[in-house]
Amino acid sequence: MWTRRRAQNGGDPFAHEREGMVDRQIAARGVRDPRVLDAMRATPRHRFVPERAREFAYDDRPLEIGHSQTISQPYIVAFMTELLEPGPDDHVLEIGTGSGYQTAVLAHLVKRVTTIERVAPLAEAARNRLADLGYCNVAVHAGDGTRGRPEDAPYDGILVTAAGPRVPDSLRAQLADGGRLVCPVGPRETQRLVKVTRHGDRFDELASIGCVFVPLLGEEGWHA
Ligand code: SAH
Repeated sequence: MWTRRRAQNGGDPFAHEREGMVDRQIAARGVRDPRVLDAMRATPRHRFVPERAREFAYDDRPLEIGHSQTISQPYIVAFMTELLEPGPDDHVLEIGTGSGYQTAVLAHLVKRVTTIERVAPLAEAARNRLADLGYCNVAVHAGDGTRGRPEDAPYDGILVTAAGPRVPDSLRAQLADGGRLVCPVGPRETQRLVKVTRHGDRFDELASIGCVFVPLLGEEGWHA
């Protein structure tokens, strides 16, 4: 029985746990987009957590990844991804690469992902990890992502995975017409996900669920 399951799963010992994570933590809580659910099924989360935390990789919670940073809870990753409405031809900018897990989920769904991480050793580790796993539509940059990356703009989607006091103006400005931006906004302790959709010069804003993220530190975020 065990050998059969293992063979069907292409030798991934965590495939069964990952299916359970998607069914119980994500689909059961209302994430419906089949492309997002498939991306969550396809992304090996255990490869994005430190070796000693592998057994907890599919638990319903964030995990520490070093440098006082965390990999977000699986449900939050799926929820934010769905909110972003990623399309197959999109170029998405992510702020806060961290482990590279959210980057990988996006890479399954869009044409190209540009991601920026403030902590240089995390950026370097994520770049190597994503390359080892064969993701070739991703560019990882080290630096302050609150200013975005104007040289590659505009972006069809911008996803911020750290929480700022407000949505950075530079990021709004780098959204394509019709583009969506998702960012946790609020005080240091607890925030709300905000979705901004650009229609020409108009920016529509929608407040979504409450959340808790590590701080977005930088020029247009919190000051360290
Ligand atoms: N998306 C990540 C979660 C990362 S936690 C994952 O899937 O693992 C948030 C990350 O944002 C941290 O790694 C933190 O260092 C980074 N960060 C904070 N402020 C930033 C900024 N101004 N620019 C880029 N990254 C930033």
